[in-house]
Amino acid sequence: MSGPAVGREDELAANLATVEARIAAACHAAGRAREEVTLTVVTKFFPASDVRLLAALGVTDVGENRHQEAEQKAAECGDLDVRWHYIGGLQSNKAAAVAGYADVVESVDRAKLVSPLVKGAAQRDRPLDVLLQVSLDPPEQSEGRAGVHPDDLAALAQKVTGTGELELRGLMAVAPLGSDPGAAFARLALIVERFRGEHPRAQVVSAGMSGDLEAAIAHGATHVRIGRAVLGERPKIK
Ligand SMILES: *Cc1c(COP(=O)(O)O)cnc(C)c1O
Repeated sequence: MSGPAVGREDELAANLATVEARIAAACHAAGRAREEVTLTVVTKFFPASDVRLLAALGVTDVGENRHQEAEQKAAECGDLDVRWHYIGGLQSNKAAAVAGYADVVESVDRAKLVSPLVKGAAQRDRPLDVLLQVSLDPPEQSEGRAGVHPDDLAALAQKVTGTGELELRGLMAVAPLGSDPGAAFARLALIVERFRGEHPRAQVVSAGMSGDLEAAIAHGATHVRIGRAVLGERPKIK
């Protein structure tokens, strides 16, 4: 039927301004420069028309977490100058296809994903940036949740750096459900410190969402992944 409601651009602009102010305040409080933190807007469940409005408002990075939806949206927005971050759970039989449109895959959490990602990345004209998703969950909560255990991180990193097609750029994490994100991101900062010692070129730390971006920035996040605070509440079903 019709395009986006007339008010949608204003709504997104206002939400972006609010998020931008939160990021700036968090950087200031942490004694960090605003330029140290990139905003990735998570557009999952929202239409390509929103990505288009966001790009016009200056958003450079967008995140998606479901392969089919992401693939279609990236194709519809092929003319836009935005970087596509794949941040969702990754099945090994879909991983090669994700490498077809993603600029960075943030959710690499097991060795089984490496060879399909390499296969997909080999079809591209440039290497595929990857982040390793590290689990911050306490052991009793980690069942069924994404993320490599910190003890297994070094071995997974070695698998990735052993390929020519994948470029290891850093780490991604999600705070555990129902506990203090500050404590979790403080643990992440220690993991990051050791990791950067071994992989000095892998400086990205993707952490922080709508509810906890301040804590993430306080503990060194270089990228925050913000959905609801920019786009509004996601529909329950699509
Ligand atoms: C959905 C999602 C986000 C964004 O969460 P909001 O609470 O909407 O800001 C960030 N990271 C990941 C991995 C997600 O799946």
